[in-house]
Amino acid sequence: MTAEIKQQILVASRVLYAPNGITDIQEGFSGHVSYRIPPGDKYIVTGHTHVEGRSTLDIGYDDLVTVDIKTGARVNGTMPLLGENVIHSGVYKARPDVNCVIHVHPFWSTVLSLVEKPVLGLPVFFSGKSQVESEADGDALGKALGESFALLIPGHGVVVAADTIEQALVSTVFLETQSKKLYHASLMGEIPDEYLKLNTKSPKATKEGDSMLWYIRSLKERGLFPELPTS
Ligand SMILES: [Zn+2]
Repeated sequence: MTAEIKQQILVASRVLYAPNGITDIQEGFSGHVSYRIPPGDKYIVTGHTHVEGRSTLDIGYDDLVTVDIKTGARVNGTMPLLGENVIHSGVYKARPDVNCVIHVHPFWSTVLSLVEKPVLGLPVFFSGKSQVESEADGDALGKALGESFALLIPGHGVVVAADTIEQALVSTVFLETQSKKLYHASLMGEIPDEYLKLNTKSPKATKEGDSMLWYIRSLKERGLFPELPTS
């Protein structure tokens, strides 16, 4: 079970790395994917690989750590912890229905996070700091998310929450693709409010083009699929 969770985290991380031709995400991706381990008081997330200059394409099984949601302490793994783990902990505390959190910095969603108009009716969280790295800010972010599938951090990135890794991955790609469309449409004229407040529910995975199976196939075609360690 844990090995499969780790594999799915690595799949999502590699799919979201850009540009790799798998998604519409075009600008350099950095960020992290986490998953809550049943029965629910811990999650697995990437360690602090950014300090070593590594992208999410370069991470492997040894880079994943297990974190206690309440204390924020590392209970398994050897990599240093991310300061932004408080985002993941804050969402898991606030949303018992959420098992996967993705925090990334995609270009178009971040551009639209800086304007007053709402993007798909999503909540915005701004603590006055560019980074969310204190437990109090992480908990406030979790509350600000409400029942929404995603939240914007102005000028920084997005937080996406879902019950499965597949759904979180599909939602993250959907949000970025929709943001890119909204940006370009806004250059041609005023976008009606009803489109800007489209919905706060997760878009569902489809069979072709945006399901985990399709993403796994795409990674395999590129030789990027994270095969499980043999030992
Ligand atoms: Zn961030």
